[in-house]
Amino acid sequence: MREPLLSLRGLRVSYGGIQAVKGIDLEVAEGELVALIGANGAGKTTTLKAITGGQPLAAGEIRYRGESIAGAAPHALVARGLAMVPEGRGVFARMTITENLLMGAFTRRDRAGIAADIERMFATFPRLKERARQYAGTMSGGEQQMLAMARALMSRPALLLLDEPSMGLSPIMVEKVFEVVREVSAQGTTVLLVEQNARLALQAAHRGYVMDSGLVTLHGEAAQLLEDPKVRAAYLGEQ
Ligand code: ATP
Repeated sequence: MREPLLSLRGLRVSYGGIQAVKGIDLEVAEGELVALIGANGAGKTTTLKAITGGQPLAAGEIRYRGESIAGAAPHALVARGLAMVPEGRGVFARMTITENLLMGAFTRRDRAGIAADIERMFATFPRLKERARQYAGTMSGGEQQMLAMARALMSRPALLLLDEPSMGLSPIMVEKVFEVVREVSAQGTTVLLVEQNARLALQAAHRGYVMDSGLVTLHGEAAQLLEDPKVRAAYLGEQ
């Protein structure tokens, strides 16, 4: 079998004495959209942080394209096609929208392609076009979320890691963001999506993993997880 694009084996991550991730296995194959769901504090964000080098591993292995990436610097990962949209967004507040998008393309040299992609982002998110010359820090939370996603896409990632893209957005914007996630996936980008909104995430995903208290308690086809009684009761608000 072909090696998955991303694989986590026995991943453990601790904050001081607190074990936030207690030994998980997770795989994302090329072209897949995988959802990672679970309650608050389950360890989802910590897992993404470990992948992108924001949190050291206590144990285990993270492989991307068949090579260990534990300890790699974030900019080196972007250059290798791995981009992340963090929780809380992290846009460059004192730069304009356009400058933020250009920063997202820092690994690229194809000027015409970069300009075309900026236009593509403006077509997808018209609000960003209206505000192109505005400082990112002056935009609303939802607008910053759109910008963070557009900026990550500017690197033309092979693997996109999304941390709670629906957080703080109005229902219409949540729909929009999920539409973009599906589109990005349909165009061939592999996606690992961390989401509180389990229903939306599983509806968009091919496969899903459920985390609880630092462990993966269930995983499988997204359609099956949507039908699973335990998932329905605990994460989809059904009896
Ligand atoms: P949420 O959906 O609420 O963001 P999550 O599944 O992403 O939750 P994490 O943010 O990964 O969960 O947190 C996992 C556990 O690690 C929690 O118990 C949290 O309190 C703890 N934790 C997270 N960040 C830190 C930190 N910087 N220092 C200490 N403990 C932390």
